[in-house]
Amino acid sequence: MEEITFRTKIIMGENALDRLKSFQNEKIMIVTDPFIEKSGIIKEIICRIDGNNNSYIIFNEIIPDPPIETVAIGVKVLQQFSPNIMIAIGGGSAIDAAKAIKDFSGKLNRDQASLTFIAIPTTSGTGSEVTSFSVITDKDAAVKYPLVADSLLPDEAILDSSLVQSVPPAITADTGMDVLTHALEAYVSTKANDFSDAFSEKAIQLIFKYLPRAYRDGDDLEAREKVHHASCLAGLAFNMVGLGINHSIAHACGAQFNIPHGRMNAILLTAVIDYNAALPDFNERGKHYTKAAKKYAHIANIIGSPSTNPRSGVKGLQAQITKISNLLNIPENLKKCGVSKEKLQGAKERIIEAALNDACTKTNPRSPSSFEIEKILDKIQ
Ligand code: NAD
Repeated sequence: MEEITFRTKIIMGENALDRLKSFQNEKIMIVTDPFIEKSGIIKEIICRIDGNNNSYIIFNEIIPDPPIETVAIGVKVLQQFSPNIMIAIGGGSAIDAAKAIKDFSGKLNRDQASLTFIAIPTTSGTGSEVTSFSVITDKDAAVKYPLVADSLLPDEAILDSSLVQSVPPAITADTGMDVLTHALEAYVSTKANDFSDAFSEKAIQLIFKYLPRAYRDGDDLEAREKVHHASCLAGLAFNMVGLGINHSIAHACGAQFNIPHGRMNAILLTAVIDYNAALPDFNERGKHYTKAAKKYAHIANIIGSPSTNPRSGVKGLQAQITKISNLLNIPENLKKCGVSKEKLQGAKERIIEAALNDACTKTNPRSPSSFEIEKILDKIQ
C-alpha cells in the first residue's frame, strides 16, 4: 500500500505574495541570507507584514550550504523571540536552514514545533519549498547531511518568479540543472509511480525548453516562471519517491570540494545515467534492457530526441544533457572546477563512504558497490 499526501499549500500567480497581508497581530521570524536583505528583495516581505503584526525579526546569517553552527545560532534566536510564524525567503540554503532551525527548536520546546512555516524560494532549483528534506553541512568534517522528516515540510510555499529575476546566469544554470537532476532521479527511483512520473516528465520538458532562455536573458519572465514551476514540480516528485546516487555523490563531492550543489549534480548526470541504464553489451543487443534504460529512452522521446530502441534513447538523452550543459557553460568535469586528479584521489575513500551511506542511495535503481562509485568518480575527474 502506498499513500500520497501533499501537505504544503502552494500559492502562485499574480500577487501571490499578498498572502502575507492576511497575517494580523502575529510575531514573525524571517530567515534569509545577507544578499536577500541587502538587495532589497526582503522589502517585498516587510511591506506586506509591517504594521499589521505585533513584531518581526530578521535572521539574515544563512550562507550557502548552511553549516550546523548557523542553525544553532538560529535556534537560539527563535527560542528567545518565540514567534508563531516563520518565513524563510531565499535559495535552498535559507529554506533548508529555516527547516532545521524550526525542527530543532521544536524538539527543545514543543510550542515551537507548531509554528506556521512559509517558504518563499528566490532560486529555481532545490524545490525545498515542498520537500521534507533539509541539507545541513558539517564544514569541519566536509560532509553534507540530508535530514529527512515530514516535520520539515513547509505549511505553505509562495511561488513568485519575479523574485528570481535577479539570479545571475551562473546560478540560474547551476540551480536549473539541479531541477533536471531531481526530476530524472525521481523518474527512475525504485519508488517511482504514475503520479511522481507525471511531475517529473513535466519538469523535464519545462527545463529543456525554458532553462536556456532564462539563462540567456534573466528578464525573460515567461522562461523564469516556467523554470520556477519546474523546480517546484520536481520537488514534489522527489519528495514522493526519493532521489538516487547522483545526489549521494554530489552531496559528498560538493562538501569536499566546495562545488555548488546544482553544478556538481550536472557534472555527474551522464555518468550516473550510464551506470543506472546498464546497457547490455553490443553483442547482446536486445536481450535485456533495464527499466531505467527504458524510462530514460521515454524521456528522450518526450524532449524531442526520438529513438528506435532503449540504447539509442539513453544515448539521445545523454546527448541532450551534454548539449544543454554546454549551452549553460557548466564545467564538464572536476578538473574544470579546479579539482586535480591527486586531490580527488586523496578524498575518494571519504566520498565513496559518504555516498554509500547517503539517504538518497536507497532509492537508486541500482545498488552500487564502492568500486562502482569509484568508476563514476573516475569518469568525472
Ligand atoms: P543557495 O540558496 O545556496 O544560494 C546560492 C546563491 O544564490 C547565494 O549566494 C544566494 O545569496 C544567491 N541568491 C539566492 N536568491 C537570489 C536571487 N533572487 N538573486 C540573486 N542571487 C540569489 O542555492 P540553492 O541552489 O537554491 O540551494 C542549495 C542548497 O540547497 C544546498 O545546500 C543543497 O544541498 C540544498 N538542497 C536542498 C534540497 C531540499 O530538498 N531541501 C534539495 C536540493 C538541494
